[in-house]
Amino acid sequence: MQAFVYNAQAARVLFGAGTLAQLPQEAERLNMQRALVLCTPEQLTQALRVAELLGSQCVGTYHKAVMHVPMETARAACDEAKRLSADGLVAFGGGSTTGLAKAIALETGLPILAIPTSYAGSEMTSIYGITDGGLKKTGKDPKVLPRTVIYDPELSLGLPLGLSITSGMNAIAHAAEGLYAQDRNPMTRLMAMEGIASLAKALPLIRKQFDDPQGRALALYGAWLCGSVLGSVGMALHHKLCHTLGGSFNLPHAEVHTVVLPHALAFNASAAPEAMHDLAHALGVNNGPLGVYQLAKDNGAPVALKDIGMKEADLDSAADLAVKQPYWNPRPFGVPQRDEIRALLQRAFDGSPPVYG
Ligand code: NAD
Repeated sequence: MQAFVYNAQAARVLFGAGTLAQLPQEAERLNMQRALVLCTPEQLTQALRVAELLGSQCVGTYHKAVMHVPMETARAACDEAKRLSADGLVAFGGGSTTGLAKAIALETGLPILAIPTSYAGSEMTSIYGITDGGLKKTGKDPKVLPRTVIYDPELSLGLPLGLSITSGMNAIAHAAEGLYAQDRNPMTRLMAMEGIASLAKALPLIRKQFDDPQGRALALYGAWLCGSVLGSVGMALHHKLCHTLGGSFNLPHAEVHTVVLPHALAFNASAAPEAMHDLAHALGVNNGPLGVYQLAKDNGAPVALKDIGMKEADLDSAADLAVKQPYWNPRPFGVPQRDEIRALLQRAFDGSPPVYG
């Protein structure tokens, strides 16, 4: 076995149906007497119940979280936290809400208690992102890593079916790229394989029965593990393509991950045979990239960029942008590989099965 470095995430995790009830004690454990609850406008009703559960430990609810954390939203939320003399942040929702909590924590140092209701996995990482002037700047800071995470599968029952599947595929993307990450290690491999296997079992259960408790619990468990991989190792081609498509062409986050993943994996297959073997094993199929494509398709998720708002005329500039400042990848994808990346994007646009390069 080769030598390795494993960066464990510091978060305390509570997992299980009904664990939300332990929120007051968990907030107390973080010395929160004046917590500010954060959510999106769509999840305000549920968030108000969370605030009610906290009772006198809560000073308010801020319900303006939106995708990609615009700087103005982050500033306004920070001002609100300061105005209320908040001593902690309770992020109730998906990656957008956790992202807003991180932006406030970056500025104020306030501790975050996260209650994830989607499978994005941001609660397990110290990565933050803030969008200013149309450009999303990301960075890493241990200050923004949530101190406690409550994973209560009952809270994901309201996640619409389409988003449940694409959010699950988004989680699989973190783990799949983790399998060939430059800084991967035996711990992240274990988490990645268990995370992928859990989600591959969960998504068909959720598709069959939206509120299947076993499906919801398995999906959230998988999301935790996949998010932990994202928090521990570096991401590669797939994440670069998704950041480019999401950031510059305003495509929806989870859907872009779902569509691009099989194609990015197929591009990397020849350079990462062990990762492909592990991926296929976790999915219970012979061919990992094709298995990912089929998992999305069989569960009704989009598999073509043309179906999620991408214009064919923008594929050229997407390819140009993606090969500029490439991330580390098992197979190079800089300017000399621009035409191969353009061809990959065309297949993703058309929604055809992945092709091996
Ligand atoms: P999201 O948080 O934007 O949620 C999408 C919509 O679903 C929102 O309206 C939200 O309120 C709603 N929703 C979430 N859970 C729900 C539930 N249980 N019931 C009903 N509605 C629910 O989307 P997301 O996919 O969770 O997160 C995407 C964002 O997270 C992106 O901006 C992405 O960049 C970021 N992200 C960051 C990291 C990181 O490590 N920093 C990791 C993953 C994702």
